[in-house]
Amino acid sequence: MTGPGGTTRVAGVIGDPVRHSLSPVLHNAAFAALGLDWVYVAFPVPEGRAPEALAGMRALGIEGLSVTMPHKAAVAAAVDRLSPVAGRLGAVNTVVRRGAELVGDNTDGAGFLDALRAGPGFDPDGRRCLVLGGGGAARAVVLALAQAGAAEVVVVNRTPARGQEAAELAGPVGRTGLAGDAALAELVVNATPVGMAGSGPGGGSEALPGGLDPSDLGPGQLVVDLIYEPKLTPLLRAAGSRGATTAGGLGMLVHQAGHALRLWTGEEPPLAVMEAAVTARLAN
Ligand code: NAP
Repeated sequence: MTGPGGTTRVAGVIGDPVRHSLSPVLHNAAFAALGLDWVYVAFPVPEGRAPEALAGMRALGIEGLSVTMPHKAAVAAAVDRLSPVAGRLGAVNTVVRRGAELVGDNTDGAGFLDALRAGPGFDPDGRRCLVLGGGGAARAVVLALAQAGAAEVVVVNRTPARGQEAAELAGPVGRTGLAGDAALAELVVNATPVGMAGSGPGGGSEALPGGLDPSDLGPGQLVVDLIYEPKLTPLLRAAGSRGATTAGGLGMLVHQAGHALRLWTGEEPPLAVMEAAVTARLAN
């Protein structure tokens, strides 16, 4: 591949902020490995302008878009059609062009499940699960766990009403709960930003999300933090030191991108290449 030319196909991500998105790293590495004449770019789009961005996608013939904060709900309202999962979540993280139609999909839940199975080898079928958080990522995870056959999905969130709405996505196996419910969970997932690198909430402190008590974590449990920077969050450190199996958020990041790439190109995503590219970027 000699670089973009007249026949190059374009995909990208819309969001604000988007300059530090890892999606261009993931997708451009995949396009190169697959020998595809595609390029993936970051489009900064301010809040409120998602419908214009979609009009631009149509006019310019952009093949696919990833959607990140703050546009996931606005894009869900502006596409021609939603996948069943995006319809349930009311949020789109991937837009696919199907002829004249723009279809909104959401690959976060599928990416999360793939990462569980490919990494720690965990199958949620029949398992008791607890999710910390009630935002976009938590909602995708709750729905995916219920669809994968989880016996119970307990949601613990700072704002109870949002937690309740997230728990309802799991249907009869969903309920809200308290941090202490973690003691009985086989899978604990942090879907809050508590523990993220930098100045975010909990940044620099050892506070655990949702007020979790480390003594509720231990052998026989899988503890997943959706945060991928830092690789080892305070939650993963606490869980690991108590004998729980742990996994960070990189697997979900790579697998959700893999699903998007498959939707756009029809090709099998080169997941190992994508993971190596993003790992190298995070190391710098
Ligand atoms: P979001 O929609 O803004 O939701 C954030 C959730 O975290 C909300 O439920 C919020 O509670 C809760 N929260 C925020 N600050 C908190 C604090 N200080 N204490 C307790 N709870 C707090 O964000 P999101 O898109 O779901 O993302 C959540 C996390 O998942 C982020 O760290 C993000 O980087 C990560 N993520 C990772 C992947 C991946 O591929 N690995 C994908 C998506 C997201 P309230 O409802 O009370 O506001």
